[in-house]
Order: sequence, then structure tokens, then C-alpha cells
Amino acid sequence: MKSAVQHLLGIKDLHQEDISLILSTAKQFKEVLQRPVKKVPSLRDVTIVNLFYENSTRTRMSFELAQKRLSADVINFSASTSSAKKGETLLDTVRNILSMKVDMVVMRHSASGAPHFLAQHIPAAIVNAGDGINEHPTQALLDAFSMIEKFGDLKGLKVAIIGDIMHSRVALSNMYLLKKMGAKVKVCGPPTLIPKHLVEALQVEVTYNVEEALQWCDVANVLRIQLERQNQPLFSSLREYNLAYGITRARLEKLQQSITIMHPGPINRGVELDSDVADGPHSIILDQVENGVAVRMAVMFLLSNPNRS
Ligand code: ASP
Repeated sequence: MKSAVQHLLGIKDLHQEDISLILSTAKQFKEVLQRPVKKVPSLRDVTIVNLFYENSTRTRMSFELAQKRLSADVINFSASTSSAKKGETLLDTVRNILSMKVDMVVMRHSASGAPHFLAQHIPAAIVNAGDGINEHPTQALLDAFSMIEKFGDLKGLKVAIIGDIMHSRVALSNMYLLKKMGAKVKVCGPPTLIPKHLVEALQVEVTYNVEEALQWCDVANVLRIQLERQNQPLFSSLREYNLAYGITRARLEKLQQSITIMHPGPINRGVELDSDVADGPHSIILDQVENGVAVRMAVMFLLSNPNRS
């Protein structure tokens, strides 16, 4: 990566070349993962802590598997079973962990900006595994990898991001990445879940009509309603959300073209996405999960070997 990149805090800070380098490195790791022996010694003697202050299934397991495939030493921290419960600050926790000679921190936190704060205070490389409603850079990278695998290129690809744009860190990281790489982006959802200032600043198109978004796009990236981040109701009910914005087979059958369906998980089946679409022939949701391991291997490999770029 460019020499200035010591951490992966967000897609916002990356250059097009950084993104391309991560994606091409991930392609090599994906080849490694197809071999009978899937383990490489690239991060032998590198120690990584997975610091999760918020729940996670895919991301956490994907990082851990990526670390093991790279032969790193791994330790896991979960806020719910730690001294964070006793009132220890984030910085104290991390300084204590680093004193045990840890080289890299992968962190998820419910506070937007938590990894950026940490980056100013500790010497280790930090990978943001999701911070509040801000960014989820490795998700956007694995989404990009999966789209390139399917379509060959992101340039000119029409991607509709449908759902809770306001509270989704996946939406923000995807918008940054897709715009940097020359894709066309349209966001879609209830007006109360689309922050106008943001889409204007990022120069992405907006529609409140899901049929229009589906008719327009090559790929629909469908997002979960982030109820845990909404203090007050921003739409009438989940049932009505499904009626107005849910991606259903009936809606897809009305289209002239077939479109690719993506979702970062966890899916709320029957709300933003119906089961027969999630499990249907145009869904690449499990490819996204598979590709996450190779992409995270690439990120951690490049951050541990800054001279590779
Ligand atoms: N897993 C993703 C995230 O952590 C998406 C979601 O939770 O809806 O942001």
C-alpha cells in the first residue's frame, strides 16, 4: 500500500491504487485457499488481537480464519467477557494487550471513530472491522472483489444500495469504494433513512422507488435495517418496509434483465430480502462470505509488509 497507509481505518483514506493492490493480492490468496494445503507462512511471528466490542459472526470468524491461514498468532478479546465490563477504558485495555507484544489490532466498536482514536495513541497497525455507523472497509473490499469476480470490472457497473443507508457502515464504505473505482451508484430506501447531505457530498444518485432502483441496476446490494442504531422509529413497521422496499421474487420477475443480489449479512429474511431471492440463482451472498477470508488475508499481509507496494 502507499507508504502513508499504516492502518486500514476506512475506504475514505485509500487511493484507487491501494484498493487495486488489496484486490489483486486477495486474488492470489483466493488461489491459495483453493489448494489442499490452505496455509501459508506469510505472517509467522506476527501476533494479532481481535478486539470485538460489538457482536459479530461472519467478520470475526473471517478475520480469525484469515489470520490462521497466514500462520499468525491470534488472541481474541470480547468486551462482554472482559474487564471492559469493570470500567476499564479502551485505551487502557489496548495498552495492556500491546504490552504482551502484539503487532496488529483488528477492532470492532459501536462508537464511530474508535479505531481512528486508537490509531493516534498506539504503535500497532489497526484494521477497522466496523465502527458504529461510520465504516466497514473490509466488507466493501470483499463486496468489490465479489463484483469483479462476477463482472470483470467495477468501471461503469451500476450498483444499487438498498436499505438503511443512514445507519449502515457497509453503505458508506461501499459508496466511497465504488465511486473511487468508477462504478455508478444509486441509493434507495425510505427518505428518513437516506441522509441528503451525505449522498450529495458523495455525488451518488438517490431514488425512493425500489422498482426504479432494480430496473436500473446490474447489482442490488441489500442492507439490513439497523434497528439497534435507531433511537426512534424512522418508518412505520417491518411489514410495511417489506411491502415498500423488500426485494421479493415478484419484484425481480417484473424486470427485463436479471440482476445480481448481494447482502453483507445478517439477513432479516422476509424484511429486506425474501428467502427465495437470498437463496436464488442470482444471489452471490455466500461468495461474498467466502471472498471475505482472502480479502482479509490480503489486508493483514499488506499492513504487515508495507514494503510490498
Ligand atoms: N454485518 C454488517 C455490519 O457489521 C452488516 C449488518 O450488521 O447489517 O455492519
